[in-house]
Amino acid sequence: MRSKVSSSSPSQQQLSLVSPPVFAGVCRCFVGVSRCRSDPRGPQWTGYAAVMSSLLLLLLPLFILTPTTALEFRYHRNGEIEKYLRDISTSNPDIAHVYSIGRSVRGQQLWVLVLSLSPRHHSIGIPEFKYVANMHGNEVLGRVLLLQLIDDLVRGHRNKEAWSVQLLNSTRIHILPTMNPDGFDDAGTHCQFSQGRFNHNGVDLNRNFPDAFAGKRQQGQFVEETQEAEVRAVIGWLRSETFVLSANLHGGALVASYPYDNSNGGSEQVGGASVTPDNDVFVHLAKVYSYNHGSMHRGDSCKDGLSFNDGITNGYQWYALKGGMQDYNYVWAQCLEVTLEVSCCKFPPKDQLPALWTENREALLAFIRGQRSCV
Ligand SMILES: [Zn+2]
Repeated sequence: MRSKVSSSSPSQQQLSLVSPPVFAGVCRCFVGVSRCRSDPRGPQWTGYAAVMSSLLLLLLPLFILTPTTALEFRYHRNGEIEKYLRDISTSNPDIAHVYSIGRSVRGQQLWVLVLSLSPRHHSIGIPEFKYVANMHGNEVLGRVLLLQLIDDLVRGHRNKEAWSVQLLNSTRIHILPTMNPDGFDDAGTHCQFSQGRFNHNGVDLNRNFPDAFAGKRQQGQFVEETQEAEVRAVIGWLRSETFVLSANLHGGALVASYPYDNSNGGSEQVGGASVTPDNDVFVHLAKVYSYNHGSMHRGDSCKDGLSFNDGITNGYQWYALKGGMQDYNYVWAQCLEVTLEVSCCKFPPKDQLPALWTENREALLAFIRGQRSCV
């Protein structure tokens, strides 16, 4: 969530280890059959083994390229996420590529996975899109949703399902599951407490970007080296790719919030909102998410009592903040970014994750298709 709450929380629950690779059984079976070629049970058995061996050789690429089991619903640790992204990239080099945009304060890599027919390079006419999660280390559902999205897109593409093939044909999708891995390591599992929200230096990353409304004098004093490492990494990322559309996933509310988050009281202020020249596009994009979400569009309030018409809001109208990432994307990188608050609870219990994925899945896919509104 964008709001700032200072409190402590219970210690983080122990997280379980990754399941064994799903291909292990297949490989063991293949090796076992091969050994049977000299089996004393006779030539009939050997012939059978040879046929089975050939069949498995033919089928092996399918097992390697297609995730056969859906990704487990749980909170993967930072190292597990890196391994997962690398495995996806290695197994699917034609559509996936992993790279780092920099390091956190503690030196953890900020890994991004690209999914596209041209995963390593920009293609003329193919828009660049990004999803960013876990900017606030204790708002963790976004990590889970983006990993599930990767799993879903890759499996869909391997199965030649039209919805996935069309998305990867028409968009280059960059996914950063965690922008604040240090904060996640320190996060408490409470629904509202903010332990782990900040980076390792105790800085709120969504207040640390250069602010468009800070005034010329203050902007002139902006020195990039003084920004936090995670923020510098994102600024460099925005300079290296020409993103047209983006969403930044948070938790602690259920609403799609769009720029501006700040104002200097000029002509951008309209009826209590701070609106951009592209306000109609932003409202449309926010509704694309809220109306494809299982419940966001109903505007139901979380326990704080706030409710939102259509499940959307102008950021400034909700409350003003300076140094936010979505304003920076819009003003400095010409990228339309929306802030998605995807769960009332910042750290939902593990058994709620499948239902929360179901609520968000279509909205995440529809929002990527929303890049058609931007080019
Ligand atoms: Zn947040």
